[in-house]
Amino acid sequence: MGTAAEDPARSPVIPAVKYIRDTFPSLLIACDVCLCTWTSHGHCGIIPKQDGLIDNEQSTKRLAQIAVAYAKAGCHVIAPSDMMDGRILAIKEALKESNFGRTVSFIFQAQLRFLIILVPTKIHL
Ligand SMILES: [Zn+2]
Repeated sequence: MGTAAEDPARSPVIPAVKYIRDTFPSLLIACDVCLCTWTSHGHCGIIPKQDGLIDNEQSTKRLAQIAVAYAKAGCHVIAPSDMMDGRILAIKEALKESNFGRTVSFIFQAQLRFLIILVPTKIHL
């Protein structure tokens, strides 16, 4: 289900981001947000049933939770690399609700190409 991704006790990303942020405070930190690393099947989404279908709603909700956890850890740039429908809006709304809407930048990455889709008005380094 990918729950370890946003759990500071189980994810190496969160303590690593905090360590890097503390050690190199002027370094810009970008975090890949995806579920494939955190699921037993290796797909970028949650597959809750035996039918093998990805639950897009659960997946986008989890991706948004991961993005907020990374932002709380100190990540400056959220870079979702999955292809779930609606995940950009879900992540954007979750960051706004957690007061990171104006402090965390956002890029979309796919197939080794980067496209900036939202740039905040202010980034705190
Ligand atoms: Zn993935």
